[in-house]
Formats: sequence, C-alpha cells, structure tokens
Amino acid sequence: MSDKVVGILGGGQLGRMLAVAGSLLNTKIVILDVGEHAPAKQVLAPRSSQYSHIDGAFTDSARIQELAAKVDVLTVEIEHVDADALAEAKCDIHPRPSTIKLIQDKFAQKQHLQARGCPVSEFMAVDSTVESIQAAANNLGLPLMLKSRTLAYDGRGNFVLRDISQASDTLAALGDRPLYAEKWVPFTHEIAVMVVRSTSGEVRAYPVVETVHKENICHLVFAPLRSRDGTLSRRAQAVAEHAVKTFEGAGVFGVEMFLMNDGSIYINEIAPRPHNSGHYTIEACETSQYENHLRAILSLPLGSTALKVPSCAMLNIIGLSSSMTEITHLTDVALTVPGASVHLYGKSECRKGRKMGHITIVAESDAELRTRLRALLKALPSSPI
Ligand code: ATP
Ligand code: MG
Ligand code: MG
Repeated sequence: MSDKVVGILGGGQLGRMLAVAGSLLNTKIVILDVGEHAPAKQVLAPRSSQYSHIDGAFTDSARIQELAAKVDVLTVEIEHVDADALAEAKCDIHPRPSTIKLIQDKFAQKQHLQARGCPVSEFMAVDSTVESIQAAANNLGLPLMLKSRTLAYDGRGNFVLRDISQASDTLAALGDRPLYAEKWVPFTHEIAVMVVRSTSGEVRAYPVVETVHKENICHLVFAPLRSRDGTLSRRAQAVAEHAVKTFEGAGVFGVEMFLMNDGSIYINEIAPRPHNSGHYTIEACETSQYENHLRAILSLPLGSTALKVPSCAMLNIIGLSSSMTEITHLTDVALTVPGASVHLYGKSECRKGRKMGHITIVAESDAELRTRLRALLKALPSSPI
C-alpha cells in the first residue's frame, strides 16, 4: 500500500467519494476548498495540523502551493482550477496540469481530439458578436449549440440558438464568456465510459452506460448499455480509450458521447476526473472509479473495471427548490427498496438544479431493476423519463 499523502483541489461530492475510497486504503487526503464544511471535508476524520484541510479557493495560487507543500500527489475533483498555479507545484500532479488546462477550454479540447482522430461533430470558433454568431449559424445550420469555452457545468454555459434572430439573446445569456459553436447533434442516446489510466499509460475502460439528461443535467444512468448492436459497447470503449490515451497523466477520465441512429459515435466532452456517470461503479463494479483514481495516481495496481451485478441504475437527487422536503421523501422511499443505496452529499443548502445526492439501484435482471426503479420514480414529484 502507499503511504503517500494525496491533495485534492475541490471538496464537493466527487472529492467526498474519493475521500471515502481513500479511507479504505488508509490513504491520507487533504482537501482544498472554501469553507470548513465542504462535502469532502465532512467525511475525513480531523487530522493533526500537518494534514488539516485548507480553507480557500482551488483557483487561488497561494492556497494551491500551500496544499502542495503538505502532500506527495495532487489531483482534482473539478477541472475549473488554476492550472498554471497547479503546474508550479513541487510534487506529483495527476492528471497533468497541461491536460487539465486543455480540457478546461472546451474549444481547445475539441480541436485536440479532432487532430488526434477522435470522432467529434462539427464545431467552429465564434466571436462574441451578433455577426459572428449568425455566420456560425449560416455555416453549421439551426438549431445551433453555442457553448462557453470555459467554466461550464450542468449545461450552464450552453445556449441553443433556434432562430437566427436569437443571436443577441445568446450574448445576453452567456455574457462576456468566450464562446464557440457546435453543430446540433441529433443523437438517439447519450452514452458514457469511464476510463482509468495508470502512471505507466495503461488504460482500462469501464462498461458503457446510457445517460439520460433532463434540462442539461444528468438524471439517470443505466449500466450496462443495452443495444441490439453487438459491436457498440466495444466500439464505444475503444473510442474512449483512444481519447484518454491522448492526454497526459494518470487517473480516471469520464468520456461523454453521443450515439447516432446509424450506430456511429461522437465524443461530446471529456472530464479529467471521476464523473457523475461513474457513481454507479461504487456498488456495481469490482473497483469503484474513486478507488481506481487513487490507485492510478498512487502508482498502485489498477483494479478490475468489470461489472459485478447484472443490472444497475443511478438516479441523481437534484434539488427542486430551497426545500429538502421532496428529497427526504425520495430517500425515505429508497430505504425501503431492495438493492437501493442512498448517497447524500452533506450540502448545507438545497437549490433548484443542485446535485444533493444520488441513489444507486442494483438488481439480478433488467426486469427486477425496472420494478425497483419504478418505486423511486413514483416518489419524484415529476418523473425525469
Ligand atoms: P457537464 O459538464 O455537467 O456534463 P456541460 O455544461 O459541460 O455539462 P455539455 O456536456 O457540453 O455541458 O452539454 C450538456 C448537454 O447538452 C449534453 O449532455 C447534451 O444533452 C446536450 N448537448 C451538448 N452538446 C450538444 C450538441 N452539439 N447537440 C445537441 N445536444 C447537445
Ligand atoms: Mg462539461
Ligand atoms: Mg457534459
């Protein structure tokens, strides 16, 4: 086992689940995030002063160096960190700051993928002017997806232009954020693959999953992907593995993809960290994405990514308002459903659209899974599917 200390930039739910996985390996973890009660800080026992967490922003260069001084390996649970400051750190860093910097600019990420033969749909640079947006719409057609190049999550940073007259609305919605345009992709399904990459460059894909989004936020994940096309899963894993091999550094990467009617696949985007679509791995795979991320960055042997249950689903618990009432109702019901595991993130405030937790359901068959899932969906005020 490793006695290296791991520093994580970001203390949200992904950091919390990394911390839980680390506790099972006796791995010491130090978190950098704002506040004493960030979700990841809550699950780690109080440390001696050497290992106490840091109160500060993961975009604050001085705080990043403070964290680096306490640990052997730095990693991230969010890509929106100060990658240049991270690159200055005098310790191991996984994935590499260059990878994080590339991925955090979604336009640069797409250019990188395209140049390395990864399938991406058409996209182009746009300036933040009505003329430039209209030119992109003339070029790529309508509807057109305008995206912020940076700081995007949960679709906050995306604007769908349905009519050329909405160009100024795009600018009003996305403000002065740097933009680019993507051709609208009429996908039939969204799928995702987690890939773990070791310090020596070995990659292992997790099973392909189907992700169901509602209002740009992932609501449901089904594992494994069911398809009549017997080649699909292996093809999607190969696309994901090839893409992850183009980046430097170890850890898990989440590869979001679009599945087209003809069976072809495009990469939507890649996350250089554990990912929402991989939460299911905690209960359903031989090694969770969180444990494998730690194993990878600590140069420990990678764990098996195989499924250990026949059928699995993950339901995100998304805030509907400032009230926790509906969430409590849902988790109360989940406690009565066989095969359901509740994960709450310890967030102090509930807000509409905020990820407050998730529920993983495992079952011996798809039919049993559907029955179990139905009980949970009935407990939602409005079903996401
Ligand atoms: P997150 O990082 O939380 O996954 P994000 O803010 O980076 O989200 P995207 O993943 O780029 O946003 O897009 C959010 C959703 O919008 C996608 O999951 C998909 O449903 C839809 N979408 C994105 N790009 C396109 C496109 N070019 N055509 C059609 N739909 C798209
Ligand atoms: Mg994203
Ligand atoms: Mg996305």
